[in-house]
Amino acid sequence: MRALFAAAALAVLVGFFSCRELPTREMVLLASYPTGLEDAPEVRIALATGRDELEVELLADATAADEAGRPIRGGGVLRLGRSGEMVAYKSADGRACEAKLLHVEGKVLFEGRSFRGRLELSPSSGKGLDAVAGLKIEEYLCGVLAGELPRGFHEETCKAQAVCARTYALYHSRIARVKGRKWDMTAGTSSQVYRSAASFSAKINIAVNSTRGLVMTWDERLFSAFYSSSCGGHTDDASLVFGTDPITPLSGVNCPYCSKAGHKWKEWEIRVFHDDAARKLLPFARDKGVVLGEVSALRPVFCERTRRARSIMVDHAFGKLEVPSHAFRTRLGTSVLRSTLITSFTGGQDSTAFKGRGWGHGVGMCQWGAEVMAREGKDYSDILRHYYPGRRLKRVEYAR
Ligand SMILES: [Zn+2]
Repeated sequence: MRALFAAAALAVLVGFFSCRELPTREMVLLASYPTGLEDAPEVRIALATGRDELEVELLADATAADEAGRPIRGGGVLRLGRSGEMVAYKSADGRACEAKLLHVEGKVLFEGRSFRGRLELSPSSGKGLDAVAGLKIEEYLCGVLAGELPRGFHEETCKAQAVCARTYALYHSRIARVKGRKWDMTAGTSSQVYRSAASFSAKINIAVNSTRGLVMTWDERLFSAFYSSSCGGHTDDASLVFGTDPITPLSGVNCPYCSKAGHKWKEWEIRVFHDDAARKLLPFARDKGVVLGEVSALRPVFCERTRRARSIMVDHAFGKLEVPSHAFRTRLGTSVLRSTLITSFTGGQDSTAFKGRGWGHGVGMCQWGAEVMAREGKDYSDILRHYYPGRRLKRVEYAR
């Protein structure tokens, strides 16, 4: 076993990477996980939000109770709706009941996904109902690896992904708790893709178990360990993409690896029609107090260091509007403009053609690049060292 692991066996108190949204260091440290004695921490994953109806099937030993702990003897399938500020459901004898929230413990089937843990069902702050699962982080990570990586990926890529995902999850879990949010992360691409399964592959279990508790730190604090599918040749700077404080591990690195991978979105080409772009950019322009006229050109503005588009200059009938490239991409559709690594563009009368490389926001580890590194004989520590320069590996201790 690597010396790294032995050194990491000591319990470490891991604080936060400083975040402008967090008021003081003291508050952050108070929110840190206890180390050494506690069981693995739980992460709260929003499986559904604002739904008019929810259906939960209680399997095996699963139990349900209302906010006061009174058991709900519905058994089988619970069908829930909303009534005012309450959750509405039917009891086993068909009576209409209401509760402020429902707790379900044990193994359940939720929207075709089975998992074991704690599920909380409650009214949303707006319309409908929310379903938030409480999962032990190491079990959650198995579902993230299943959701984030293709099955055939190398075991060292899986281990690198486990460390990234654990770091990301613990960081965002603490942020959410300091801010008093109802959940830590979603189960989709806006956080980490989570896919529950009755059983995970041996490779996933090995990757999660062999890196148990292992996280990356910078300046003794966790950071938001972003990653994306394929960077296209150079990863991006998180501070430019997400407006986070600039830190070395997320400042962007050269990636000579993903271009060697065989994935089909290595290079892409799209045509963006100006009237379509204008329609999709209207809310952005409105937020900026800009009246957007007919669009005549879309011109990328490049960042010399990362070689990626920093923004898109939109020429329109009433002037110019500069749209950050990440905002441009999300408004156009992240599977339309696959990345901000634009290699060339050609403007026409009513449209602009873009050529580029990669897929995803491009910050942090490049998953396809990591896979090429692993197949070339690098281990997960080498992979993380390359994509997060200056990062350290530390183990958060929690009992089994
Ligand atoms: Zn790459």
